[in-house]
Amino acid sequence: MSKSDEDWMRIARDHAVAEKGTDPADTPIGAILVLDGKEVARGINRTAEDCDATAHAEIVTLRAAGKAKGEMRIEGATLYSTLQPCGMCTFASIWAGVSRIVYGAGREDVHEMYFEDRHLSTLDYIADAYADDLELAGGVLKDECAQLYFRPWDDVPEDMQAND
Ligand SMILES: [Zn+2]
Repeated sequence: MSKSDEDWMRIARDHAVAEKGTDPADTPIGAILVLDGKEVARGINRTAEDCDATAHAEIVTLRAAGKAKGEMRIEGATLYSTLQPCGMCTFASIWAGVSRIVYGAGREDVHEMYFEDRHLSTLDYIADAYADDLELAGGVLKDECAQLYFRPWDDVPEDMQAND
């Protein structure tokens, strides 16, 4: 039986928890890339571990998927992420040929530290510009994913507000 969006999101979430636990301070973000009903690759964010500002879970997953497939484009794949992807990851998905992004917790479900602090959502901006190329769906297992992160009402110390 083919897996649903909820099934894949649960796998991404479980992977994040298995690798990083459930403490928001450790930023357990998980992603998984699926093509034709099969997993191509999965990843967690490794920005702090690798001292790499681009090592978001989605980018780590796209890199692993490219290696696994032997090509940079994985046409028609779906990328699942436990947290709404940032602009960098959304654009990287477009370059990789991803046609669908599904995320768990959205921008409004988590602390503002997770997103760019300008007056725009890069995801909305890109979704609008690439409406013909990219389908977006949010809120899959929203609460279960949001539990892994600082929430909008949490008082997060200034020095912990780096997105890593
Ligand atoms: Zn990102």
